[in-house]
Amino acid sequence: MSTIAENIAKVRRRIREAAQASQRDPQAVGLLAVSKTKPAAAIRAAHAAGQRDFGENYLQEALAKQAELADLELTWHFIGPIQSNKTRAIAEHFHWVHSVDRLKIAQRLAEQRPAHLPPLNICLQVNVSFEPSKSGCTPQELPALAQAVTRLPRLRLRGLMAIPEPSDDPQAQREPLARLRQLRDALGLDLDTLSMGMSQDLEAAIAEGATWVRIGTALFGARDYGSPH
Ligand SMILES: *Cc1c(COP(=O)(O)O)cnc(C)c1O
Repeated sequence: MSTIAENIAKVRRRIREAAQASQRDPQAVGLLAVSKTKPAAAIRAAHAAGQRDFGENYLQEALAKQAELADLELTWHFIGPIQSNKTRAIAEHFHWVHSVDRLKIAQRLAEQRPAHLPPLNICLQVNVSFEPSKSGCTPQELPALAQAVTRLPRLRLRGLMAIPEPSDDPQAQREPLARLRQLRDALGLDLDTLSMGMSQDLEAAIAEGATWVRIGTALFGARDYGSPH
């Protein structure tokens, strides 16, 4: 078994145990493999181990890997910050976008999603850590943004995404994750998705209702940001 296959098995076991600990169906928690900075060969190895959903943060890097892996049936999720000049390629080349945090971006994705493709699955990124520097809309902005996005064509609003401040304390980890779930429920829009939980806090996220955990390091090892992307 490759290291990546072993890591996938370990992470799947963590997901299963965390789901069982909170009486949730493990099948309700999707594993999104975050492959940013990792080569196409790592994605190919993960695919061979049964992994199908991959998350990327950097558009040019993602497009290059998609071209190399065109022989595989993969589901691509864009999870990085979005500049408006990148929306067309994102609308054309991804199945999900987790990081929509303003209406202008959603409008462009709606206009640019090709008609022959199914609607683009959208999560709204919310800043639940009250850090002004972080991306994500504020909890105050969320209801109006969500309402507006549900009215756009060619998009399917699925739920919310957050990247809370890292913490080693499981109790402190749960607070912002619980806040994201409460914000989702308060919208009253019948949204089925909570994209939250990374390598360090996936147990806390599953306890608070995560339906996608986005896992990079625990699957592919530490990232090297030495080379530009
Ligand atoms: C890099 C990244 C992850 C993965 O983080 P790990 O700690 O390596 O599991 C998840 N979500 C987003 C948005 C990321 O940018």
